Amino acid sequence: MEEIEKNWNLLPGCHKEAENLDIIFACDGAASVGQVANYVAIDLTNRNIGARMCCTAAIGAGSETHINIAKRARKTIVINGCASRCVSKIFEKLGIKIDFEFVIQDMGVKKIPTLDIDNEEAKRIADEIAEKVGYGGKTVSNNKN
Ligand code: SF4
Repeated sequence: MEEIEKNWNLLPGCHKEAENLDIIFACDGAASVGQVANYVAIDLTNRNIGARMCCTAAIGAGSETHINIAKRARKTIVINGCASRCVSKIFEKLGIKIDFEFVIQDMGVKKIPTLDIDNEEAKRIADEIAEKVGYGGKTVSNNKN
């Protein structure tokens, strides 16, 4: 526990504080664009600016706890990898509002069957999304990717 407190960026509890947080749901799909989506979610979370990622798969699985977090969120930020828009479709199906929606493939990233990402490109996308959501500034994350 001591090591966790020293080295890990502990997140605000999304269940406890959803109303005070912008909650990010990224697809984490198994392709370049899905991995960039996940990178961006981690990067924005680690900026400690009142936004944090939550478990997208739990929403898809119908977890009431997570659906309620999304419904209570100050703002929801949905990050899809490609035009299939899987996260957006889950939200639409469940009637959860989407405040900001992004599709990484539409932001200049090619969908390639790889889990590798170009970190510089991913940082550029993170900054672009931060700007559009209104966070501004450059990445200050401790993203270890
Ligand atoms: S949005 Fe695209 S990359 Fe993301 S999970 Fe769906 S198919 Fe995969």
